[in-house]
Amino acid sequence: IDVYGAPVLGDHEQWLGIVIVSHDITELKRLEQVRKDFVANVSHELRTPVTSIKGFSETLIDGAYTDEATLLSFLEIIHTESNRLEMLINDLLDLSKVEQAGFRVNALPTDMEKVIKRAEEMVSKRIEEKKIKLDLQLEPVILQGDPDRLLQVMMNLLVNAITYSSSETTITVRLYTKGKSALIEVEDQGIGIEASEIGRLFERFYRVDRARSRNSGGTGLGLSIVKHLIEAHHGKVDVESTVGVGTKFTVQLPLGS
Ligand code: ADP
Repeated sequence: IDVYGAPVLGDHEQWLGIVIVSHDITELKRLEQVRKDFVANVSHELRTPVTSIKGFSETLIDGAYTDEATLLSFLEIIHTESNRLEMLINDLLDLSKVEQAGFRVNALPTDMEKVIKRAEEMVSKRIEEKKIKLDLQLEPVILQGDPDRLLQVMMNLLVNAITYSSSETTITVRLYTKGKSALIEVEDQGIGIEASEIGRLFERFYRVDRARSRNSGGTGLGLSIVKHLIEAHHGKVDVESTVGVGTKFTVQLPLGS
């Protein structure tokens, strides 16, 4: 707590009293810490692929390029790490955009069934590779929203569901209306999330298992972006999960706004 005191004097410099202003800076301190952590995280996340790109390219320049097998495998690593860097930069730019106070989505009548089917097409290769069954239970729903941004939300949730599931499991996507809301559920039979982790899931760069999530290719920013996008649509996103059983993300969007 910051405390300031100042005397209050009368016309003839006589003491009338004292004014004390106390200011609770706990929240400010917390926000400052969040900002510092974010900068530290960004630096770390950017440095990791750059270090690898530098190291492998230097080794090639120093002579390793003459061995064709080494050349190819190092180029593949450099390529993968460049992609990762690009993904991180894109997610960071996107997050900074959606976090702006004045951020608005371009809402227009959107066929949510179409958006989900488009997302299905976009993940079809990953689903096949992992032999996952995608069960779509979709009712026709038209809502006011930004189709590109809603596709981005669906892609994030679906890719996570695929990433954190083992092969030969089922992912169920439901779309239905309830009262004045549209509800979208993405339910997997994957590894699940500990109850104690759920509260932090939507924080920037938060990952339940840092090493595993990083290897799986995510940036740790996906769910923060999802939350901001859904809130920009005046909706909300919830998660229920049981370790070893699976996870269900539920997005609720107003039909009319
Ligand atoms: P990432 O890019 O690491 O997937 P996200 O912000 O999308 O980042 O998700 C944050 C973390 O939440 C993930 O690292 C993972 O630990 C956890 N998570 C997200 N979706 C699921 C899911 N369907 N099942 C289990 N864990 C999940």
